[in-house]
Amino acid sequence: MVTPSTPESVRTAGRRARHCRHTIYCPSLRWESIDRQGPRDRPDEIPTVESLLRSAGVLEPTADGTDLRLAEGFAEAWHERMDQMRGGDRALRWLAASEGLDADALDVTEADDRYVVAHGDETVGAWHSRAGFLAAIVAEPTIREWVDAARLARLPDAPREELAARLVMCLERCPTCDSALAFEDRRDGESGVALRCRGCGATVAVSSIA
Ligand SMILES: [Zn+2]
Repeated sequence: MVTPSTPESVRTAGRRARHCRHTIYCPSLRWESIDRQGPRDRPDEIPTVESLLRSAGVLEPTADGTDLRLAEGFAEAWHERMDQMRGGDRALRWLAASEGLDADALDVTEADDRYVVAHGDETVGAWHSRAGFLAAIVAEPTIREWVDAARLARLPDAPREELAARLVMCLERCPTCDSALAFEDRRDGESGVALRCRGCGATVAVSSIA
């Protein structure tokens, strides 16, 4: 059985994985599944992830009301940050600063739908592509800007840590080239879908189940 959001093992060529926070997530496409990671008996004061994000204006219902999408204002703010971080090694320098690392010592390996950032012999994090990396690292400050910190802090750890990866699955435009994104079959033969860019071909995110 595939458990939603179980981080895939990261192929790091013998490197030690240091930061679990930046591990590869393959979240479910269903928002309600993110809340199943918390305690079974949810105290009343703990919001569901869906209710929290809807009340904060991060998510809104789709036109037909059957699903959720990124609210326009949040998507614009998020894309604006991605645009600012696109050039050169800006995003890597931002990551280094936020982790207290020397940016010049970061090393990037891109292969087989993996974008792995290492610092010396330690893995700082792994994503599906540079586009997925860019979206995920600027999602965090954007979420903090939109969602009340006290309410965010009340979420159980697992869904809170998966939040950025889960929101990346909702993107409609590529973080690095602005082309349209579309869901396609995963290339690794596993069940689930991959969110891929029609322009540059980047795999932006991968879900655990269809
Ligand atoms: Zn693209």
